[in-house]
Amino acid sequence: MTNSELFALDKQYVLGTYARFPVAIERIEGSTAYDFDGRKYIDFTSGIGVNSVGGANPRWIAAVTEQAQKLAHISNLFYTEPGARLAQRLCEKTGMAGVFFSNSGAESNEALIKLARKYSFDKYGPGRACVVTLEGSFHGRTVTTLSATGQDKFHNFFFPFTEGFRFTPANDIAALEKALGNDVCALIMEPVQGEGGVLPLDGGFIAAAEKLCREKDILLMFDEVQTGVGRTGKLFAYQHFGVKPDAVSFAKGIAGGLPLGGILAAESCRDVLGAGTHATTFGANPICTAAANAVLDILEDGVLDSVSEKGAYIRSRIENMGLGCIAGTRGLGLMIGIPVKGVSHSEAAKKLISAGVLILTAGADALRMLPSLTISREEIDEGLDIFEKTLKGAAI
Ligand SMILES: *Cc1c(COP(=O)(O)O)cnc(C)c1O
Repeated sequence: MTNSELFALDKQYVLGTYARFPVAIERIEGSTAYDFDGRKYIDFTSGIGVNSVGGANPRWIAAVTEQAQKLAHISNLFYTEPGARLAQRLCEKTGMAGVFFSNSGAESNEALIKLARKYSFDKYGPGRACVVTLEGSFHGRTVTTLSATGQDKFHNFFFPFTEGFRFTPANDIAALEKALGNDVCALIMEPVQGEGGVLPLDGGFIAAAEKLCREKDILLMFDEVQTGVGRTGKLFAYQHFGVKPDAVSFAKGIAGGLPLGGILAAESCRDVLGAGTHATTFGANPICTAAANAVLDILEDGVLDSVSEKGAYIRSRIENMGLGCIAGTRGLGLMIGIPVKGVSHSEAAKKLISAGVLILTAGADALRMLPSLTISREEIDEGLDIFEKTLKGAAI
């Protein structure tokens, strides 16, 4: 099949929910992708942060293959090993008490919301169902996680939305204090807003949020669907800030390319979701959780330690290119936002992709890079050389 045959097939039979770039990827090795016509691309997207250990990673392939030969699925009515082992490792690395596994980021955030409301209902009865989130946040595409998302453009068409969400501006402690009223059970925040523009929260704001939450027994929760699993240089981004959340969601990078998500709950929330209160058929799927164990093995093998340095290298190279259309860089670890000026972020992304660099956008003005955590120095340099050459022409 050629690129253009695939474009036509997809356009005819797949619902048009995605405004795709005109590129069809056939395979990826590490952070180097190839299309159906054999053209090469340096991948700075890792499939939106999912291919955390790169394409065709041999240790990941071995783990997935071995598990597929033993047990692909049996349901959560029975015990299986890879999920239990993964839960143990995640708890030991974070000091959390337990894990619930789901299949996506939105579903993981749904679990956070259910956990928060039940924690409060069990302890205080009705009237404390409100969940506070941040303006500019992104929490998913289900009706309830759209409701939790603090961006007006997502609150359209699908009425009626779920009640019980309140938005407050990021990094504004006085506004947060007002938002955390007596009707609130939880505060959910992304440590670095991803879709909203790669905007890190201030450490002081996170510390103040923890203090305010503790005073009122409001649960402090992080949506680490994008920031988790080593993306920012720690296993979870909240670990940069010295806080102890009550629960944390994760998804994207956890299984290195297979669908898996979940939440980590602290001792405070260990027993809130008892038998029969929450479930999902595919959750803790043995192949997905075996893949996630391989991802943790690879991160432990020096990859996690390389993330901050790789991120700093990419940012300093970009900042030193002297490009007129680049207004700086921001982010944490290998979650990099590059605000552009004089050109729209989507135009810049289109130019870069057609020049051979896969890249994302975020918020109103930024290009976004979420490379595989295993990306090599050679791949970084090759991609940044193309980036520099391509955007030189776009300078104002
Ligand atoms: C991607 C993302 C989600 C949604 O994850 P899905 O797997 O697409 O449901 C939720 N929260 C954040 C912070 C994300 O980046």
